[in-house]
Amino acid sequence: MRFITLFGGEPFTDFNSITYPLLSKIKTLIEKAGKYFSCFFVTNASLIDEEIINKLKYLNPHLQITLDGDKEHHDKVRIWKQGNKPTYDHILWVIHKLAEEIQGEKFFITLRINYDNTTLPGISEILDRIKDIDRKKIFVHFERVWQTEKDSTEEYKKLLRKILKNFIGEGFCVNQGTFRGFPYSCPSDTKNSIVINYDGTIHKCNGRTLSSETQYGVLKADGTIEIDEDLIAQRLAVATFENKECLNCKMLPVCMGPCSQKLLEHNGNWSKDICSLKSIDTSLSDYLITDFWVKSMIEKYNG
Ligand code: SF4
Repeated sequence: MRFITLFGGEPFTDFNSITYPLLSKIKTLIEKAGKYFSCFFVTNASLIDEEIINKLKYLNPHLQITLDGDKEHHDKVRIWKQGNKPTYDHILWVIHKLAEEIQGEKFFITLRINYDNTTLPGISEILDRIKDIDRKKIFVHFERVWQTEKDSTEEYKKLLRKILKNFIGEGFCVNQGTFRGFPYSCPSDTKNSIVINYDGTIHKCNGRTLSSETQYGVLKADGTIEIDEDLIAQRLAVATFENKECLNCKMLPVCMGPCSQKLLEHNGNWSKDICSLKSIDTSLSDYLITDFWVKSMIEKYNG
């Protein structure tokens, strides 16, 4: 294991006393074995302060930080539990500070912008607030709030395309939907990727509620892992794209099929409901044009 993802607010509630010492220890062990250690935080960033940023420098981090629209909309839904204070300005301070303070070629922040029809028109305000950030340190991912997928009309698809173009025009790498161009559909489809719950139980997918139903093994007190290899084999034996729809699809191998979790939930059968094309909020041709814009920008920045 050399890449650890920490998910949710908990890793930052006791960062100094638990998370930092634990990750530092793991980093030392991994580096002693001659491997590179990196960690990935999926967070709303509201608990990150200067002291934490200083400690993060040592951990080779990547972070995914989410905004729920522009300041006006974000601050209506994302407020501090204590005192009901808004979080937008703090999150943008964190993003700037991380980008300034953390060096290293591999460092980047994914700024995930969740949007719906109400918040999409104001998204350009975010662009104004991040224009001064080094483009090599930030990657912008747009995600429609899934509960509003049915509200996506031609008008909003056009607006989204215009916004993506504006971000790309300012030199940002931008992405929308689940196509990543990795050699797997999701990291959990690889054999050595596991999810360790707070109680030591081991699972494969962190996109579902963890329970005894989703358990594949256990992390024992001596640090070793006991895992049901047969159960893992049942999940991973068939590649996620091994069905006639994916094999005939022009998106293969940019898309490697629906993830193994979704396939499991559909008895191993592909269906339109779990096809990755559902995750893009534009027509396929618009998506491909946008992808081309992104690649042009990457080439530009690589010189
Ligand atoms: S059919 Fe859907 S899930 Fe399969 S490769 Fe194409 S886009 Fe991906």
